[in-house]
Amino acid sequence: MKKGRLFIISGPSGVGKSTVLHAVMEHMPNLRFSVSATTRQKRPGEVEGVNYFYISKEEFEKLIANHSLVEYNFYNDNYYGTPIGPIDDAMAQGQDIVLDVEPHGALNVRGHWPDATLIFITPPSLGELKRRLESRVDTSPEDISARLRQASWECRQSFQYDYIVINDKLVPCINEVEAILQAEDCRTSRRSEFMNNLLKEEI
Ligand code: ADP
Ligand code: 5GP
Repeated sequence: MKKGRLFIISGPSGVGKSTVLHAVMEHMPNLRFSVSATTRQKRPGEVEGVNYFYISKEEFEKLIANHSLVEYNFYNDNYYGTPIGPIDDAMAQGQDIVLDVEPHGALNVRGHWPDATLIFITPPSLGELKRRLESRVDTSPEDISARLRQASWECRQSFQYDYIVINDKLVPCINEVEAILQAEDCRTSRRSEFMNNLLKEEI
């Protein structure tokens, strides 16, 4: 069975990563979301085990000690980390998996799985990012300022990614992410088994 592929989506908080991923996953049923663990508070509308596993600092530190996370980081006063087991299982079952992590995490994941495809989602401007963050009524002004300060650094890391997608209008952004996912399936490394079988054909 072909191994599942691993995709990493990063981009500043508020750029639209969750919105874009939600739409992409509706169109691509073989794509599963890797649910991270976090110590941050649940936002209204978020669901335990769907958006994140919401755990205490002590529980998070146990996951670190048990080597249950492939990477973790401290972002804006909270821990965020990627459980390794579900990713290994999904890929072994041929299921594609997508992670939403900030750039430190993305590069650490690439260190562990070098074939991962890294996609950076950028806002059309930092002013528009601010407007999107402000539209999230559950985020305090202090939290918005901290996330905006982090955003400039995150955008500077985009040069290390395989792809950069601009989330100006939502639909073209969703289409571009889907095009990348589809193109990655046509890589020679993923089609070589097919070609070898074709060449065994008697004609
Ligand atoms: P992230 O997951 O990157 O933190 P969200 O998906 O929660 O971001 O989106 C942040 C806000 O921006 C939401 O209110 C969302 O509806 C809005 N948004 C996302 N994409 C666009 C877009 N292309 N144009 C305008 N608003 C957008
Ligand atoms: P938010 O609080 O907006 O959900 O997420 C804040 C930031 O944490 C985002 O940049 C998001 O991509 C990142 N993030 C979410 N889960 C993980 C994770 O497991 N590891 C790392 N390193 N970052 C994460």
